[in-house]
Amino acid sequence: MRIVLFGPPGAGKGTQAAMLAERLGLKQISTGALIRDAMRLGTPAGKRACAYVNAGKLVPGEVVRAMAEEAIAANDFDNLILDGYPRTVEQAMWLDDFLTEHHTRLTNIVVLQVPDAVIVQRLSKRRVHKITGASYHLDFNPPPADLDPNLIVQRPDDHPNVILERIQQYHEQTRPVQQYYAEKRYITRIPGVGEQETIYNQIAQSLHAKALAA
Ligand code: ADP
Ligand code: ADP
Repeated sequence: MRIVLFGPPGAGKGTQAAMLAERLGLKQISTGALIRDAMRLGTPAGKRACAYVNAGKLVPGEVVRAMAEEAIAANDFDNLILDGYPRTVEQAMWLDDFLTEHHTRLTNIVVLQVPDAVIVQRLSKRRVHKITGASYHLDFNPPPADLDPNLIVQRPDDHPNVILERIQQYHEQTRPVQQYYAEKRYITRIPGVGEQETIYNQIAQSLHAKALAA
C-alpha cells in the first residue's frame, strides 16, 4: 500500500497516520517531522526551512521533495503512509513522476475533512512529545499522567497568528491538490470530526474496500 493522507493542518493526519502505521505495519512518512528533525540537527535543509516553518509558510518545495523521496526510497517504495506530502500541486506531480520512474503508483488517497473552526480549536491546544513527536490535545486526548511533563511541549507554529497563516496557506496552496487527485483517480473523503477510533475505522474500511475492488 502507498497511501497519501491529506487534509488541513490539525485534521488529525499525524494521529491517524501513527495508528495506521502501527496497526497495518506501514511506515509513516511525515514531512513536518522530517523538517523538524532537520531543524533540530541544524542541517543545511533545516536551516533553510526554519524561517518558513516558524512563520507558518510552506517550506520551498525542493527541500521537502528531497526529504520525501529519500524516505520513500529507503522504504523500498512500498508500505508507506505519506502524512503532509504532497502539499502543493507541484509536489503532487513530482510524487507521481517519482513513483512512475520506479514503476509504481499511489494506491489510496484519503482526505480528512475538518472545518477551519475545528482546526483552530485543535491546534491551539495541541501538545507534542519532544522525542517521539506523538500528538496530544489538552481536552480531547490529554498526555498520559505518567509522562514526564517536561517532555510535553507546544510547537512554536501552534501559536494563534501562525495557525491562521497555516490555514491560509492550506486554502491557497494545498487544497488544490485534492482537485488534482480527484480529476485523476478515486479519492476517499472522510469526516475528520468525531472519535479517533471511529475515524480510524472509516479509513481502514476504505482501504479494505479499495483492496477488494483492485
Ligand atoms: P495534523 O497532523 O493533521 O496536523 P494531529 O494529528 O496532530 O493533526 O491532530 C491535531 C490535534 O487534534 C492534536 O492535538 C490531536 O490530539 C487532536 N486530534 C486528532 N484527532 C482528533 C479527533 N478525532 N478529535 C479531537 N481531537 C483530535
Ligand atoms: P500540520 O499538518 O499540523 O500543518 P506538519 O508537521 O505537517 O504540520 O507541518 C509543519 C510545517 O512544516 C508546515 O507548516 C510547513 O512549514 C512545513 N511542511 C511540512 N510538510 C511540507 C510540505 N510538503 N511542503 C512544504 N512545507 C511543508
